[in-house]
Amino acid sequence: MEGQTRLARGKVAIVGCGATGASVSGLLARAGVGHLLIIDRDYVEPSNLQRQSLFDEADAAESLPKAVAAARKIAAFNSDVEVQAEVADLTPENIQSLLSTADLILDATDNFETRYLINDFAVMHGKPWIYAATVAAYAVTMNIIPGETACLSCVFPAPPEGTVETCDTAGILNSAVNLIGSIQATEAIKFLVGANDKLRRTLLSFDVWGNEHAEITADRPRPGCQACGKREFVHLAGERRPQITLCGRNSVQIHERNRPVDFAELSARLGPHGAVKHNAFVLKFWRDPYEMTLFPDGRAIIKGTNDTAVARSLYARFVGS
Ligand SMILES: [Zn+2]
Repeated sequence: MEGQTRLARGKVAIVGCGATGASVSGLLARAGVGHLLIIDRDYVEPSNLQRQSLFDEADAAESLPKAVAAARKIAAFNSDVEVQAEVADLTPENIQSLLSTADLILDATDNFETRYLINDFAVMHGKPWIYAATVAAYAVTMNIIPGETACLSCVFPAPPEGTVETCDTAGILNSAVNLIGSIQATEAIKFLVGANDKLRRTLLSFDVWGNEHAEITADRPRPGCQACGKREFVHLAGERRPQITLCGRNSVQIHERNRPVDFAELSARLGPHGAVKHNAFVLKFWRDPYEMTLFPDGRAIIKGTNDTAVARSLYARFVGS
C-alpha cells in the first residue's frame, strides 16, 4: 500500500514515444504511476504498429502525434494517471522547462544526440535517468544515478561517428524492445518506491536472436569524465549539436559536422525504404513527401518541410544521429 502511494505521487518523464516509450509508459500507467510526461516529435505511421504497442490503425490513419495518441490510450485504461503530452523535440532550449519537475527521466529516444543532452541535464541537476536502446535484436539499458553510478559519458565518452544502424534501416524485433521496456519499467518502479538498494548498477545488454547477454559494471563514475567529472556540459550548451537552418521555402538544412558518410553503404541500406541514388558528391533519397540530399560530410538538405523537428527526425531515422 505504501509503495502504491509512492507510485501515485511519482512523476516520470518519458522522452520519445516510439516502441520503447509505448512499452514503458503503458507499463508504468498500468502500475499506477501518477504523473507521466510524454515527449515525442513524431506522428503515428502504419509501419510503427509492428512494435509500438500503444497505437492502432486508427491512430495511424489520423496521423496522430504519438504523445497525444499515447495519452488517449492511457486515459482509456487508467484514467487516474495524469498524462502531459508534449509534441516537441527535446532541445537545449526547452529541456529545463520540460524536465525540471520530473523525479525520473526515461530515455526512449531513437538517437544519441538527445541521450547526451539528457545525460548532461541529469548530471547537472542530480536527477536520475535510465538509458535504453534497441536496434534489430540487440537491446541495452543502464541506470544513471548522478553522484553514485557511472553516467553515459563515463561509459561512452563520445557519440558514435559516421552513420549508424537505426530501427528504420536495420529493422527491430518487437520482442527485444518490449524486453528492454520491461526492464526499464522495473527499475523505474524500484526507484519510485525507494528501493534504491535494488537498483541495477550495470550496463546490461541482450542479443535475443543470438542468445547472448552481457553485463558491465557501471557502479561508479569514471575519473576524468567530461560530464560528471569535469562538469563540462557541452551537449546542454548545444556545442555538439548540428546547426539547423531553414533554406528557401519548404526545406531545412542540417549542418552536421564530422559525420563522414559512406554513400555506397548508405544507399544499400536506404534502398528498401525509398528511391535512392548517389554519385561521388551527393546522395539523394526520396521518401514521400520528402526529398533528402546528403553530402559526404553528413550535411543534409531536407525538402518537403519547414519544420526542423520533422527534418531532425528523418535524419535520425535514416542517417542516424
Ligand atoms: Zn560520467
